[in-house]
Amino acid sequence: NHPAKKILEAHNLTMRFGGVTALDSLNLHVNEGEILGLLGPNGSGKTTFFNVITGLYRPSSGSAIFRGKDITGASAQDVYREAITRTFQRSRLSLPLTVFDNIAIGDNRRLDTGLFFNLFQRKQFKSEYDQVVEQVNQLLLTFNPNLAAKIFEPVASLPMIDRRRIEICRALISEPDLLLLDEPSAGMTHDETAEVMNDILQVRSKVKPFTIVLIEHEMGLIQRMTERCIVLNYGKKIAEGTYDEIVNNPEVQVAYLGQ
Ligand code: ADP
Repeated sequence: NHPAKKILEAHNLTMRFGGVTALDSLNLHVNEGEILGLLGPNGSGKTTFFNVITGLYRPSSGSAIFRGKDITGASAQDVYREAITRTFQRSRLSLPLTVFDNIAIGDNRRLDTGLFFNLFQRKQFKSEYDQVVEQVNQLLLTFNPNLAAKIFEPVASLPMIDRRRIEICRALISEPDLLLLDEPSAGMTHDETAEVMNDILQVRSKVKPFTIVLIEHEMGLIQRMTERCIVLNYGKKIAEGTYDEIVNNPEVQVAYLGQ
């Protein structure tokens, strides 16, 4: 049995906001190909961890290593080029734009060359445009064929579950190696969340077995989806193990009692 290869490592990662220490000398790693659950009470530093890894914040100290390469303080674009993508807790979709436009925005191969928002560009760069349509369509066909049928509809006309799907496809269009999911269940029912998770697993099994870090409060989802979990409290790792191990961990139980 080979030891698992680490895709992401945090070494003594610290993030302070004024007097608040959101990450406190955090040490953790993510194994290549796994689905890791990232848990912890509100305010324990989970989203801050994503924000620091994806270049939204520069950490106060410590380092982040992606595939052996130091990405500490790298820009959001550079991190994106390293094939780490994410979703956000709050929707960031442009409602008047189409499903296609909202997903195509996420393609890191076009970070420098711009998009196809206006008709002029669409005509001038017809072959590139058609190619992007084809890529988005292919992703949607794997992810969720029903959504593929709505590719040119404005997002405003679609229900919450499809909007969540679009946000995830925006993160998937550039075929990341590491996908960071920030509470995909937010605003949806258990059944809806399960459907969207299955869509993600479709892409994972049919296109590429990318690694996932999943921030999630819904414990049923964590139990079904993850192979390993890490629990944060006050910006530190307090437990690590399988779902059963962490839910039976006394320190974890105490951390959640104050909730
Ligand atoms: P979680 O995702 O586990 O709920 P967060 O990472 O959002 O926790 O927050 C951790 C702590 O850092 C909280 O005390 C929060 O108020 C604080 N925090 C997060 N982002 C900022 C920010 N941009 N400015 C100030 N404080 C922040």
